[in-house]
Formats: sequence, structure tokens, C-alpha cells
Amino acid sequence: MSARIIDGKAIAADLRARVAEAVRKLQEDGGPTPGLATVLVGDNPASETYLRMKRKKSAEVGIESFAHELPADSSQEEVEALVEQLNADSRVHGILVQLPLPDGLDEEAVLSKVQLEKDVDGFHPINIGRLAQKGRDPAFVPATPMGIITLLKHAGADLDGANAVVVGRSNIVGMPVALLLIRENSTVTVCHSHTRDLPGVCRTADVLVVAIGRAEMVRRDWIKPGAYVIDVGINQVDDSSRKRGYRLVGDVAFDEAVEVARAITPVPGGVGPMTIATLLQNTLTAAERAR
Ligand code: NDP
Repeated sequence: MSARIIDGKAIAADLRARVAEAVRKLQEDGGPTPGLATVLVGDNPASETYLRMKRKKSAEVGIESFAHELPADSSQEEVEALVEQLNADSRVHGILVQLPLPDGLDEEAVLSKVQLEKDVDGFHPINIGRLAQKGRDPAFVPATPMGIITLLKHAGADLDGANAVVVGRSNIVGMPVALLLIRENSTVTVCHSHTRDLPGVCRTADVLVVAIGRAEMVRRDWIKPGAYVIDVGINQVDDSSRKRGYRLVGDVAFDEAVEVARAITPVPGGVGPMTIATLLQNTLTAAERAR
């Protein structure tokens, strides 16, 4: 059996086209141009690349970007003051504070300053808290986890009652995706670096979401035949045959997993594009609500 490849690129392109159409309609109806402010503290090259991509895709769908960069040695007060300034700016509907922040800055305190209505990344402690509670709805759900659920549904996974295993428990991927799967009525197991018999636990998964940041760690015999596999990891491995000297691989050994799974996301071209498209969707929603 060879798995269906879940084409995140195509699914994301479709979502972006729908966002572009809705932005056009919003403006036609006299609404605002959606605005996304990005805050980068320090000069982490990976963060700079992610933000460049986010701004490029924003422009393509008609969302205006407001890029703010602060030096790595900025004080807590300076970062929080910028967030407050963006809260007060009516052209800005969504605020994205690029994580991680440099050492010494209190991430939770910064994220807490973001106005709930502008928290398009969904990382405000109140939004995350609501996500974890039954009967409460966050203003926004974090983009990568939401994108993962979209991909699973698109692939036809029946999440209701499924055994879902999430490998990784980070604040930005593992934990919120586990919370979303619980909301979808899956039975969820969350694994991490202390999990005993990780391959055995993964083998129980009808739905396996892997977000660990370890190149090709999940092998063929970790995967239950017919499982839906979402590979969140992005890892660089040396490859002298490539001009840039490396290639990107996921946390799952794709060539092995593809022979066992029912459906699987590739890296690149799986979760990554969905993260950005979902962020754009959240920014549009923020602008629609602001109206
Ligand atoms: P973190 O480093 O914050 O978290 C990694 C998690 O994996 C931790 O919970 C850790 O366990 C667990 N882990 C690490 N090693 C092992 C191991 N050997 N066995 C079991 N569990 C392990 O990473 P992120 O969640 O931020 O990111 C994960 C991956 O996803 C990265 O490759 C990142 O680049 C990628 N990513 C991709 C995105 C996209 O849009 N495609 C968006 C965000 C991230 P413990 O808690 O015990 O330390």
C-alpha cells in the first residue's frame, strides 16, 4: 500500500484564495484593509525567514503588513510598549510576536499584553486557557495546530473516537494540537522525551501527529497500517548533492512511512504552508470582527 500524500501546498493555496476573495469583498463593502503587525526581537535568521514569508503571503491576499524590529537587547518595557502601541493602532487587526524571544525577556508577559481581539497567533494565555476548557471558545486558535486539523479533515480522517497520538508537548504545536484533537472527540495521548516505549505508543495511533524536531526519527514500524500521519518537523540534514548543502526533512522517515500509512504530509509542502494560510485567515477574521 502506498499512502495518499496530503498536499498542504494545494490545500493552503485554496485557503489563501478564499481569504483573498473575502478581503476583496470586505473592502468592497466599505470595510477595512486587514492589517497584520509583526514583531521581531533580535536577529534570529530562521525567524526572519518565517516573517518574510508571512509578509509576502499577506501582500498576495491583500493584507497589509506592519513590520517592527527591535534589537536583541531590548528591555521588557520596550517590547511591551510596542505591543501596546499596536493594540491602539486601528490599522492593525492582528499582532504576531515572533517566538522565541531572546533570553531574558518574559514571553508570557509580552503575549499577555496582546489585545485578545488582535491575538491572531492564539498564544495569549487567556486564549490558550479557553482552548483547554470545555464549553469555552478562544478568540483565535494557534495557526499550526489549526492547520493540522484542517489537513486531517481534508484527508478524510474520522477524528471522532479515533486514537490520536501527539509526539511533542510544546506550547506552540504539541499541546494545542492535542487540545484541538480532544475537541474533535479523539482519544488523545501526548508523548514527550520521558515517554516509555515511544514506538509502541505510536503504533496505537489511528492519527499520529509528530512535532519533535528530530530528523526522520519515526520509522516504518512505529506506524499502524492505515494511520493518518502529520509530520510537523522541519529539520536540515547535510546533502552535498544540493546547491545549498542541505535538504529539509521531517520528523518521520517519509519513504518508509508512505508504505504503511493511509495518508501522510510531506516535508516540505505539508504543514508549513497551512500555518501561514491559517494565520492569514485569522487576520481576516480579526478585521471582520473589528468592523
Ligand atoms: P520544541 O523543541 O518546543 O518541542 C519538542 C517536543 O518534542 C518536546 O515536547 C520534547 O519533549 C519532544 N521531544 C524531543 N525529543 C524527543 C524524543 N527523542 N522523544 C520524544 N519526544 C521528544 O519544538 P516545537 O514544538 O516548537 O517544534 C517541533 C518541530 O516542528 C520542529 O522541527 C519545528 O521546526 C517544527 N515546526 C514546524 C512548524 C510548521 O509550520 N511546519 C511550526 C512550528 C514548529 P520534552 O517536552 O520532554 O522536552
